[in-house]
Parts: sequence; structure tokens; C-alpha cells
Amino acid sequence: MGVAPSKAPADLNAILGGVETDKKKHCEQTEEWLRMLIDTAEDYAIFAINSQGRIATWSRGAEKIFGYSAAEILQQEFAIIFTPEDRATGVPQKEIDHAQREGFCPDVRWHLRKDGRRIFVSGAVRPLRALKGAPHGFIKVAHDITEQRRIELQLKESQERLRLLIENVKDVALFTLDVSGNITHWNPGAQRLLGYSEEEIVGQSVDCLYSKEDRKAGTPARERDIALRDGVRVSETWFVRKDGTHLLVSEALRRMEDNQGSVRGFVKVAHDITERKKLEDDLRQARDHLETLVAERTTRLRETIGELEAFSYSVSHDLRAPLRTMQGFSEILKAEHGAKLGPQAIGLLDRIIEGAKRSDDLIRDVLTLSRVAREETELNSVDLAKVLHHVISGNPEFQPPSAEISIAPLHHVMGHAARLSQCFTNLLGNAVKFVAPGVRPQIKIWSESLDGHIRIWIEDNGIGIPKGQEERIFNLFQRLHREDAYHGTGVGLAIVRKAVERMNGKTGVQSEPGKGSRFWIELAAAHD
Ligand code: ADP
Repeated sequence: MGVAPSKAPADLNAILGGVETDKKKHCEQTEEWLRMLIDTAEDYAIFAINSQGRIATWSRGAEKIFGYSAAEILQQEFAIIFTPEDRATGVPQKEIDHAQREGFCPDVRWHLRKDGRRIFVSGAVRPLRALKGAPHGFIKVAHDITEQRRIELQLKESQERLRLLIENVKDVALFTLDVSGNITHWNPGAQRLLGYSEEEIVGQSVDCLYSKEDRKAGTPARERDIALRDGVRVSETWFVRKDGTHLLVSEALRRMEDNQGSVRGFVKVAHDITERKKLEDDLRQARDHLETLVAERTTRLRETIGELEAFSYSVSHDLRAPLRTMQGFSEILKAEHGAKLGPQAIGLLDRIIEGAKRSDDLIRDVLTLSRVAREETELNSVDLAKVLHHVISGNPEFQPPSAEISIAPLHHVMGHAARLSQCFTNLLGNAVKFVAPGVRPQIKIWSESLDGHIRIWIEDNGIGIPKGQEERIFNLFQRLHREDAYHGTGVGLAIVRKAVERMNGKTGVQSEPGKGSRFWIELAAAHD
């Protein structure tokens, strides 16, 4: 080491060896106090370096910070506590030279502990001079600030990350306000959206971003009050750009607090939704326009349907009238002139009567189906027992001795009494019709409750339905049996299905050929 020449003092006493003898006692006492002071400062490494660059004293704090005991390190070169790279570039000597020259050398750098671990140290080196002249050595004080530095670095990094994040958010305006609403930070996104540069706007009241009306109504202050109270205030606001144009933003104003919970201001995040709003408005307009169009067309369609109905009624009426005439005249002919006509002519007349009747039935059923499909079906609570009683009492074929119908107590349903009456008439009609010759129809009716729905069962002892045909028979004009065996139009079950659909219900059938069928109707349960 090229430190100023002198003998190598072994300890502080030796370093201070030049002090006059008559003051020795006083010095001894001072030295004792100094030693105590040094040893008490356990968080500081305090040690002396002699003029040869060797460690001459070593405090308790130094032991703790650098890991060497005094016995281990005394007389060692003080460069031992420097990192290899600092040693390689002569940092220890430079430090001493600098202290010697300037009277002080700051030492803030990485050092090396005995266990090889690096510690970041903040300290300084000062020369030790007796009275005047070259120093006897140096004193170094160092404080381990590794943890503090780590926290500082982390903080710096996270601040940097935050800064980068804020700077890079180009589509979102992000700015902060102090408690009185003055802008304190302004990101490039805010500049891009609102036109003001950071220099222009920082320090100004946020009010300048609001419309005249909002300012007059006190909106900015009210928003801050709400954010103060609730922590955050989310809203859609019209902002005014620097150039005076308006933009609609969706914004959140959030209260900012420090570690102690004191409010430090607000952060505002806003993004432009003008375009989105415009699209929504366009969409709403398009939808409204569409709805108007649909309404207009529906009205026109209804009118057309009405006209068609009127037409079909008149056609059917006109059709039915000649059919009835044919039927009526044929019957008169048969009754009044039957004796004069031969059996062949009578047979032909019977076929005319039968044909006219079938055509009339068909027209009647199709008209019923179209009415069921079209007419308003308002749903009410319906007492099924009452409806059935009405249907049975109006049809002798459903009564003894023709048929036997037993009815268990029935639930009330949400339905339409007239439609249900139509359904029961058709289903019971089929139940008494589709029986084997000579068999007396026996029908059982009951209902069960399933998950808020009521299923009404109508079970007959008829001929049944072949497997796989259960669904088909609900379609229009689908008949499984020959006309000469069982009369019908093939419209009855289509009416039932349509009517039940209009009452928001379902229909179905279970059957075993030869043993009978079980038709069901499911409707919502009535609340009463
Ligand atoms: P229609 O009774 O006028 O023939 P539906 O639409 O009422 O017409 O019935 C369609 C077909 O379903 C019937 O032709 C018959 O083949 C079958 N069907 C309906 N109800 C029953 C029943 N209870 N038992 C057996 N077959 C039935």
C-alpha cells in the first residue's frame, strides 16, 4: 500500500501515539469512552486502518456486518472486505488516496463478507491525524444498507413498471387529481384522447374537461364527493377536448390513499366510448326501424289473413251449402220416391248422401283447425271436471249405455275452457269410435301433478295404435284405419295438438295395440 510512510501502529493507541505525554491520562479516559461508544454502535462497522493499509481496530458492529472476528481480521489488509472486481481495479487504494487528499471519501458500494455474501454498504473513510502532518491511518465507518437498497430498487422498479404501463396505455386516459381536483399527472392516452399536453394541463382544475352545463351543475365536485365517500365513482360523461369537440367517456374516479389511510387525491381512468355509443344508437335505431317494419307488416299480414278468412268462410259456406243441398235433396228423393227407384238407385243415393256428409265434416274440421290456430287463446284457471261434465252431457254417445266414462278428481289447469272442450270432444270421440266391434267403450280419466304441470290422462279400451305410429297420428290427415271401418277426417288430433300448443302445453299417447290407448294432455297447473 502506498500510504504515507510511518511505522505500523498496532492499535488505536499506537495511532494516537503522537499525542503529548502530559495529556496521556486524559487521553486514556477519552480512548475508553471512544471504545465504549464504538462498541455500542452495533449497526455500524467502525474500524481503523493503519498507514500500511492494514486493519488496526475492529468494532463489534464490524464483526456483525462483515462476519470476521477481531482476532481473524486484525493486521489483515483492509482490501479483504472489497469485492474481487473492486480489488482488481484498485478501489481500496483509491479510497485511501482520496481520503488522504480530500479529508473524506464516501464509500457507497458492494463489499464482501467473510462468508462470501455481498453486502451493500454506505460509509466513509477519514484520515486520522494527530495534530498536523501526514495521517497515522484512517478510520472507516460503514453501515449495511443491503435490505434498504433492495427495497429501494424494488420500489424503483415497480415505479418504473407503473410509469411504463401508464405511458404505454395509449387508448385510455389515465390521470391523477389532488384533493381539490387539480390535475397532477397526465398520461399520453389522456393527451391523445383530450388533446392537452402534460405541460398544458398539469396544475389546472379537472373542471376544464367538463361541459359548461356539467360545470354549472357542479358535476365534477359531486363526482369527487362520491368517490371520497364510496372509494370509486363510475360514470359515463361527456368530456370537452382542447379543440372544443365533445367525446363520451366511460370513466372511473378512484380515491387514492397513502399508507396511513389519508386521502391523497384521485386517479381517473377514462376511455372513449363515443364510437361504441354511436354504434349502439345506430343499432337501437335499426332495431326500432325493424320493429316498426315488422309491426306494419304484421298488421298488413293480419289484414290479409282476415280477408283470407272472410274468403275461406264464404267459400266454405258456399261449399257447404250445395253439399247440404245435395244431401237434403238426396234424402227427400230417397224418402218420397224411394219406392219407384230400384235398389241400385237407392244405393247410389246413399253414396251421394254419405259423400256429401264426409265433405261437409272435412270442411267443418279444417275450419275448426284454422280457427284454433288463429284465434286469441287467453289462459285462465280452468276446472277440468266442469269442462268434461259439459262435454259429456252434450254428447249422448259418451253416456251410458253407449259408453262408460269414469272420472277421478281432477286438478285445475291454466288453459282455455273452449279449447279444452274441443280437445276432450275429439279425444273422447276417438275413444268411443276406435273400439273393436261389439265392445262397449270404457274410458277412464284422471290427472297427475308433475313439477308444476298437470297431466290429464284419457284411457280407452279400444283397438290401440300400432307401435311407431304414436306421433304420426297427430299430423293432419293421418289416419291408421280404413274409412269403411272407422269414419273420420284425420283432422281431430291435429286440432288437439294445435289447441294444446296454443295453451303452452304438450300432448302425447301411449298405446298397446289390441288393449287400448292412453292419450295425455299436459298443461301448467293453475295457481288457485
Ligand atoms: P279421425 O279420428 O278423424 O280419423 P284423428 O286425427 O282424430 O282423425 O285421428 C287420427 C288417427 O289416429 C285415427 O284415424 C286413428 O287411426 C288413430 N286414433 C286416434 N285416436 C285413437 C284411439 N283412441 N284409438 C286408436 N286409434 C286412434
